Amino acid sequence: MSAPKKGALSCAERELLEVLAAGNAQEASRLLGSRDVRVNCLDEYGMTPLMHAAYKGKADLCKLLLQHGADVNCNEHEHGYTALMFAGLSGKTDIAWMMLEAGAETDAVNSVGRTAAQMAAFVGQHDCVTVINNFFSRKRLDYYTIAQGLEKEPKLPPKLAGPLHKIIMSTNLNPVKMVMLVMDNPLLSDAEALEKCRKVMALICEKCTKQQDMNEVLAMKMHYIGCLLQKCSSFLREHQDQLDGLIKSLLKGRESDGFPVFQEKFIRESIRKFPYCDATLLQQLVRSIAPVEIGHDPTALSVLTQAITGQMGFMDADFCTTCGEKGAEKRCSICKTVIYCNQECQRLHWFTHKKVCKRLQEQREKREAESAKQVENQAKEAEVNKALEEVTSNVENLSVDQRETASTSDVQTETVSSEAIPINAH
Ligand SMILES: [Zn+2]
Ligand SMILES: [Zn+2]
Repeated sequence: MSAPKKGALSCAERELLEVLAAGNAQEASRLLGSRDVRVNCLDEYGMTPLMHAAYKGKADLCKLLLQHGADVNCNEHEHGYTALMFAGLSGKTDIAWMMLEAGAETDAVNSVGRTAAQMAAFVGQHDCVTVINNFFSRKRLDYYTIAQGLEKEPKLPPKLAGPLHKIIMSTNLNPVKMVMLVMDNPLLSDAEALEKCRKVMALICEKCTKQQDMNEVLAMKMHYIGCLLQKCSSFLREHQDQLDGLIKSLLKGRESDGFPVFQEKFIRESIRKFPYCDATLLQQLVRSIAPVEIGHDPTALSVLTQAITGQMGFMDADFCTTCGEKGAEKRCSICKTVIYCNQECQRLHWFTHKKVCKRLQEQREKREAESAKQVENQAKEAEVNKALEEVTSNVENLSVDQRETASTSDVQTETVSSEAIPINAH
């Protein structure tokens, strides 16, 4: 069959594009089995059936087309868009993921020089940006599990590739979560194994900075993971111990306000140690973090997370206070101002949270009483003024009082229903 030419579609191929648009997987499957249908045919704009399916956000059809040999890196579109760019535009993370797994190039650019991640960011599809920027195929890691050249053994023992890949693919950069991932796998909870992984991270980081289109985001992520693995490894050596102690250090809040100073310093130091001083990303991070006094916003973790995953801040979602996982819905029943994934995360945090819990509770109650009073006083005022008032009181709520209070010894959790997270609560 001849090579696809733009707009030269057979009747069956036109029909395929129609059934794809309608989302009819059964018909699409039948047509793809026909001899008159080329899976990589091009419409008059140079779009393949896969690009159409990706743009429409139809995951099942994308899968079907890939199974039939669709070329994920076809670049015949009139403006240089790839299937991954269309997936990013559609905002469907599962499709973006599918394209990446199928070997989509992340650094291909369209006619205005934008990559798929940049296109997705441009239209506000930040979840897709996260997926694209953090993708690192298992194949690229497996390269290190094979002895190269004169090596007697590979740099990375093959059994470590799986657990290490899991850490690399995590979009949650909270160091507590990363230590938890290390602890999850007994193969990794070993100083020597961690040291091997760290060296591989450094090699990948170097590779990312040397390739023609330097991937600073991935380089920084690999470097950060390397720093964390090194910390775990030296902790295991020094303490002859489980990593629980390291988690405790990372969570321990200072006396005055419970802010985890060690964690903040660890992240700042890791960023500063990035070995390629000329990197624009490094300079941006240092500029954002250096002027911030420790304990103030933004935290180094939020700046780093935004730079690497494209996620904005931690204000509007339900992130676990301990490990930073999204979707936490258990909150401290006393202060109601911190939330956790589960009781285990709460248990890990309690040794330090108990010092500020009572104080947070008092502050919350005071705020609630004040705002109730305010609402009463302003009942007669116009709706517009009321809304404005709530915004102001929200801003005030963000400041933390620094009085010392006695600790409480018992704690329970309860499920958050439709309530906003405490930091945004009215
Ligand atoms: Zn958690
Ligand atoms: Zn509490």
